Amino acid sequence: NPMAPILSIRQIAKAYGPVQALKGISFDVPEGSVFGVLGPNGSGKTTLLGILLDVLQADGGSFAWFGGIDHQAARRQIGSLLETPNFYHYLSAVRNLEINAAIKGRGQDDIGRVLDIVKLSHRKDSKFSTYSLGMKQRLAIANALLGRPRVLLLDEPTNGLDPEGIAEIRELIRTLNAEGITVIMASHLLDEVEKVCTHAAILKEGALLLSGDVAEIFRDGDMLEVGAADLA
Ligand code: ATP
Repeated sequence: NPMAPILSIRQIAKAYGPVQALKGISFDVPEGSVFGVLGPNGSGKTTLLGILLDVLQADGGSFAWFGGIDHQAARRQIGSLLETPNFYHYLSAVRNLEINAAIKGRGQDDIGRVLDIVKLSHRKDSKFSTYSLGMKQRLAIANALLGRPRVLLLDEPTNGLDPEGIAEIRELIRTLNAEGITVIMASHLLDEVEKVCTHAAILKEGALLLSGDVAEIFRDGDMLEVGAADLA
């Protein structure tokens, strides 16, 4: 079943002192989806991704990975930009990836492949300092792909990029998904989730408003009830 869950989240709660950042949220992420976690600033998206990556501890609830992701090894089987190194500005992209692969104890044979996927092969020998912001973001994603993750978690991956950079990252997310990677991405842009994601969960003030198939969420008027203003 291509839509079997790869991740199941149940009643996840997290408070920072008096601030209830997540109020017990539950949803499933289908394997093979591009899953958007949509909500305005402060709705709890980053907190949720932090819990899924085990850098934050939930106060309550639980989550489980499926589809062969082993809880012990989840950090290696899930790609994220958390471990993006400070790339050396005076070194080439390929050299930066070689160094980072060596530090992580990973083989060098994947570097050509990941540079191809993120469309940086033609610039692989250019110094990092000559890269645009969008190219830097794509190199960070290439770095995350070195471990051949089945799932990629991205927090606002297009933030701060110019329109061309945004289009390239969105295209890359579709390409990665076509290669079989499940992508979970936080975004505050309704328009981005509608364009890029197959499924989504909508958060507001730490609570889940809606989750499911994007085509359905955006078609059947549920979004009107949520109110575009709520997401602004
Ligand atoms: P943003 O896009 O602004 O990061 P977000 O949807 O990712 O928003 P979170 O960053 O998860 O939301 O924040 C959820 C709530 O928790 C907000 O009210 C925020 O102020 C609060 N918060 C987040 N981190 C901390 C922290 N370390 N200490 C105290 N409060 C925090």
